[in-house]
Amino acid sequence: MSTIATQAAARNIDLDSALTDARALFVKRNPNSGAIYQEALGALPGGNTRTVLFYAPYPLTMSKGDGAYLWDADGHKYADFLGEYTAGLYGHSHPVIRKALDQALDGGISFGSHNAMEGKLAKLVQARFPSVELLRFTNSGTEANLMAITVALVYTGRSKVMVFEGGYHGGVFTFQTGQSPVNGPFNFVIAPTYNDIPGTIALIEKHAKELAVVAIEPMQGGGGCIPASPAFLSALREATTKHGVVLLFDEVMTSRLSPGGLQALYNVIPDMTSLGKYIGGGMSFGAFGGRADIMSRFDPRRPDALPHAGTFNNNILTMSAGYAGLSEVYTPQRAVELNAFGDKLRQRLNALCRKRDLAMQFTGIGSMMSVHFLKGEIRSIFDARAGSKELVELFFLDMLERGIYLARRGMMALSLPITETDGEALVAAVDEFQTARGSLLK
Ligand code: PLP
Repeated sequence: MSTIATQAAARNIDLDSALTDARALFVKRNPNSGAIYQEALGALPGGNTRTVLFYAPYPLTMSKGDGAYLWDADGHKYADFLGEYTAGLYGHSHPVIRKALDQALDGGISFGSHNAMEGKLAKLVQARFPSVELLRFTNSGTEANLMAITVALVYTGRSKVMVFEGGYHGGVFTFQTGQSPVNGPFNFVIAPTYNDIPGTIALIEKHAKELAVVAIEPMQGGGGCIPASPAFLSALREATTKHGVVLLFDEVMTSRLSPGGLQALYNVIPDMTSLGKYIGGGMSFGAFGGRADIMSRFDPRRPDALPHAGTFNNNILTMSAGYAGLSEVYTPQRAVELNAFGDKLRQRLNALCRKRDLAMQFTGIGSMMSVHFLKGEIRSIFDARAGSKELVELFFLDMLERGIYLARRGMMALSLPITETDGEALVAAVDEFQTARGSLLK
């Protein structure tokens, strides 16, 4: 074996034993989470009802949250850098959100009627996101995409839906590794390479006559916080306009990255936008909206109106919490500040990686980021796949031990109550990880 191959083999053995030790420590530290997990096994397949939350040996159970902190069932305290995959923007029990929910509860829930909050929240959302001339609410981001894609099919009278490898648009729209057996029965064209302008334009042209919609996250979130270049998004805008294809930005995650989402930041305005997560103030939420000529198809006063149902579309808890959050807490100024804080934090973490010349980096924009264990620019899921998955697991377990909570896949989303001191704690934890595990990261 060459010296390099010998070194790599030794590193793999070291990584395997580091992981074995880290998992054993996790089990030792978390017996109560283990017992709660065991209890759920009888009724939930694999003890789980939300796949992304599962990891070996078993997932942590959180018992309490307050502000930017979480406590697990064994009493460990964490700085919450996961922020419920971006939905937890306001942190835990924000007083303004809490008050809005209390007031809503005092007034009674589940009226089976219009309520006074839905139009108010809709107006705020409409004012923020440039593409949203009219909108409708749903219960989740998945449902928002189901409706947005379906109305695009109806509007264009065409049959195909273009998405991107590595993309995620909800439980029935998952393209992390191409097509998935649980995806909805749409006629998908999966564009292979995010950020590949000529390749994608050629594909749009090839399918132009049958293509109803191009759905894209302006930064792939679940795929590893991989930003689209503004030039790529502009090229999509131009090609879809030319061929009468609806351009749908899935801003379920990225809408938090500026006061008006990435569409406003880059000034690339899609025809349709799907939204979700934090906009419901932490309650179940989704919304889809866009051009008035498309969305007005849902106007029930029209004889040819498209129906759009959903028992909880306007549920008063979501409407109230969402309205309080957007009007009083996540103001445009706070959006700018939080994302500037995130940019600075990510730059500091990347400076640590560069200083030690490690195969490790943090990608993202503003308040969202993901760790990757490789050098070089990451422009698509194909680049990201070259990074070590085992190191992501080790990073995750080591961060938990240091009181930092994040997604098992290495993603973080900042929430508003996170302080500079919490940011310092994250930088210190990453620094310690690099010192302890440095030999594995070269
Ligand atoms: N679209 C994107 C970009 C998402 O990240 C998600 C969820 O993570 C969804 C859609 C689906 O939203 P929900 O989980 O509310 O169904």
